[in-house]
Amino acid sequence: MSQNQSAAVTQEIEKFMNGLIRRNPGETEFHQAVREVATTIIPFIEDKPAYKDAKVLERLTEPDRVISFRVCWEDDNRNVRVNRGYRVQCNNAIGPYKGGLRFHHDVNLGTLKFLSFEQTFKNSLTGLPMGGAKGGSDFNPKGKSDHEVMRFCQAFMTQLSRHIGADTDIPAGDIGVGAREIGYLFGQHKRLTNEFTGALTGKGLAFGGSLVRQEATGYGAVYFMEDMLEVEGISLDGKTAVLSGSGNVATFAAKKLIELGAKVVTLSDSSGFIYDPTGLDFDKLEFIMELKTVRRGRISEYADHFHAQYYEGERPWRVKCDVALPCATQNEIDAGDAKALISNGCIAISEGANMPSTDGAIKMFQKAGVLYAPSKAANAGGVAVSGLEMSQNSARISWSEEELNNQLRTIMGNIHNSCIQHGQDTNGINYVKGANIAGFIKVADAMLAYGVV
Ligand code: NDP
Repeated sequence: MSQNQSAAVTQEIEKFMNGLIRRNPGETEFHQAVREVATTIIPFIEDKPAYKDAKVLERLTEPDRVISFRVCWEDDNRNVRVNRGYRVQCNNAIGPYKGGLRFHHDVNLGTLKFLSFEQTFKNSLTGLPMGGAKGGSDFNPKGKSDHEVMRFCQAFMTQLSRHIGADTDIPAGDIGVGAREIGYLFGQHKRLTNEFTGALTGKGLAFGGSLVRQEATGYGAVYFMEDMLEVEGISLDGKTAVLSGSGNVATFAAKKLIELGAKVVTLSDSSGFIYDPTGLDFDKLEFIMELKTVRRGRISEYADHFHAQYYEGERPWRVKCDVALPCATQNEIDAGDAKALISNGCIAISEGANMPSTDGAIKMFQKAGVLYAPSKAANAGGVAVSGLEMSQNSARISWSEEELNNQLRTIMGNIHNSCIQHGQDTNGINYVKGANIAGFIKVADAMLAYGVV
């Protein structure tokens, strides 16, 4: 590309972003997610008038539908509580809308727009027929009784149920929405529709859930890391891994890392992180899973129990490691954290959480030659097995653990290959570029086939 062309493309990206920011004021996370995609897709479509003329990127960044609703419920003291619920249906060009529900006090429309946009590319990368959506509420499940969570979920689903269905939109879990919440949500959907269909994934095994679904996101992020390292002739065996989070994604990523011979030395929650220099083992992980999903306690209890170190209010990125897997939340690694990781010798990042690295952090990783797997590729294993749960529900069958594990491994390998195919750069493989372009092509081609709709 000549210097003139390059300046013209840069100008086009800025013009595109200015329009998007003007139309979506204050939604900074959405701006950030779109900028990361626009920076690679606008140069890619520069010489492809079919995509440009049909305004595919403009259409992809305007959700098909944004639904917002009031959720009223009563707490255990009979106080009336009011929350806001959302579903953002971003794009269903290649299949019914699909994406998780997040219950967290920080949830707002901008967060869900960013997540549904990312989900559209991620679902495309899996190779399965799924469009992109995301939803949730500013409801904070922390400190609520099971009965309060149940009443909230029932009230939430009373509104949401009219917008979802096995062929329309299939929600799943995300932060704050685990097995307990999916059970309550599915029960209410079944009651309202008088139908037993696969309208949600992540269900319990007794009522249509799939084996390997709970492990899939964490395992998938480790498989992607394994594939990136393999290209360089490096194995995970004996490597020190630093992880954030202690929920679904983090705990199963830790489990797979330990199985593959890596030493996991940190986990975190929203209060701080634990550092266990001796490394976690399966018994210690069991303790964490029970602590977080049954007792719903704080990670500091781990440090008390196993005599590990606990750092209140801090993130684990200053701990020396070979590989890092952020598995908690968005923007949890900033440029300063990236700098610390790089100077401590970290060689690879695989993102279990959605958009955990800021723009500045990504630039630092890429400049330093760190293998960097963006979330839309690295954490696609969860939605992939959700897609397999949908297939099993439609066919009224259940696949074995081995069959599902093999399919998950194959899908993650295929995503890695797609990133290599589309991510070739002067400095080697650019996984951000590869994931964006591979995810874009399939959705864009379907949109072109439909004409202007
Ligand atoms: P969980 O609710 O099971 O766990 C979330 C973990 O992250 C908890 O340890 C939580 O701490 C911590 N956390 C949440 N918010 C913050 C915050 N603002 N700052 C620091 N820590 C925080 O969620 P999941 O494990 O399911 O999801 C984790 C990430 O993975 C999210 O980004 C999600 O979008 C992404 N993801 C999840 C998939 C899935 O299949 N579940 C699929 C693909 C992506 P605490 O206990 O204190 O709340």
